[in-house]
Amino acid sequence: MALTTIDLTRAPLADQFNRPITYLRISVTDKCNLRCVYCMPERGLDWLPKGEILTYEEIAKIVQAAASVGVRSVRLSGGEPLIRRDLGRLVAAIRAVEGIEDISLSTNGLLLSEQIAELKAAGLNRVNVSLDTLRAGRFEAIARRPGLDRVLAGIDAAIEAGMEPVKINVVVMRGQNDDEIADLAQWTRQQPVFVRFIEVMPVHENVGLQRDSYVSSDEILERVRSIGDLRPSLGPGGNGPARYFAFDGAPGAVGVISPLSHDYCERCNRVRLTADGHLRLCLFGDQDVDLRTPLRAGESIDALAEILRSAMLIKPERHHLRLGETSSRMRAFSEIGG
Ligand code: SAM
Ligand code: SF4
Repeated sequence: MALTTIDLTRAPLADQFNRPITYLRISVTDKCNLRCVYCMPERGLDWLPKGEILTYEEIAKIVQAAASVGVRSVRLSGGEPLIRRDLGRLVAAIRAVEGIEDISLSTNGLLLSEQIAELKAAGLNRVNVSLDTLRAGRFEAIARRPGLDRVLAGIDAAIEAGMEPVKINVVVMRGQNDDEIADLAQWTRQQPVFVRFIEVMPVHENVGLQRDSYVSSDEILERVRSIGDLRPSLGPGGNGPARYFAFDGAPGAVGVISPLSHDYCERCNRVRLTADGHLRLCLFGDQDVDLRTPLRAGESIDALAEILRSAMLIKPERHHLRLGETSSRMRAFSEIGG
């Protein structure tokens, strides 16, 4: 992929609330090989037509524009990013963009063990793997597909490949996996993993599930403390919204991500690029800027960077999510890239 030299001396992006925007999450596909109950309906999904999905060359051009105005970290997500063919080619293209310091991946881990070596060679720095349970039957109930062994093999392969830090994302649901909080936290005493418990968020299909199964991060931490004292920890760094805690002498740490109970909007440093080329300014809002049309009309990197800058004017100060509420604005993660 040919890359143009970019000017890194331009003023970096900041929104109206003086938050520097340095982090871009990119959804490379809306499709997935699982159907997690909190994220996607089991059937009846309308996938984006292929022609609407950005090519790797188009994504790399947007990353160049973003890097020219201060974006330094990129995360590849989805849907499930590892089902898109030859993802290493995109990682290599992003790695070649001047200014990008960190490339990470969010995955369900099913295809990780077979792809990790290639992704690392292409320049991937870090991975987050989603895993909500250590029990095979439960995995199948939550993800609506089997695969626990493959996910565990993927996590091991990532640790062996030196993809530090490996973060494990656990969506906590009362009555479904909340009785495994202690077992999952225990993992951080044995291996250098960062187990992050996420409060289940309402997306438009799951608002009923969310209302009934929500467990707050305070309750999650209380359950973790039942197996040992925790001290606040800096965690592994990175761009995330998690607060971290560790057991004495543990190689890993426990994190909590609490979009509802302790929302992290004040520290928001991110924007999202959807698989079909729209910039979304907030996960929970409908503020959206079409980048694909100017991109396909042949606009320059400088022009795209200026569109990113003007998009800052509509980044909202905060979301207004409340427990058990949703609205037409809420979209599935699969549509926007979680
Ligand atoms: N397929 C990849 C995966 O599962 O990691 C990447 C995309 S997924 C949408 C990104 C993250 O969003 C995952 O950690 C997933 O658990 C989380 N997620 C999806 N729906 C959620 C919800 N309703 N509440 C909280 N987290 C959610
Ligand atoms: Fe797929 Fe990830 Fe959503 Fe699960 S959370 S359905 S793995 S995109």
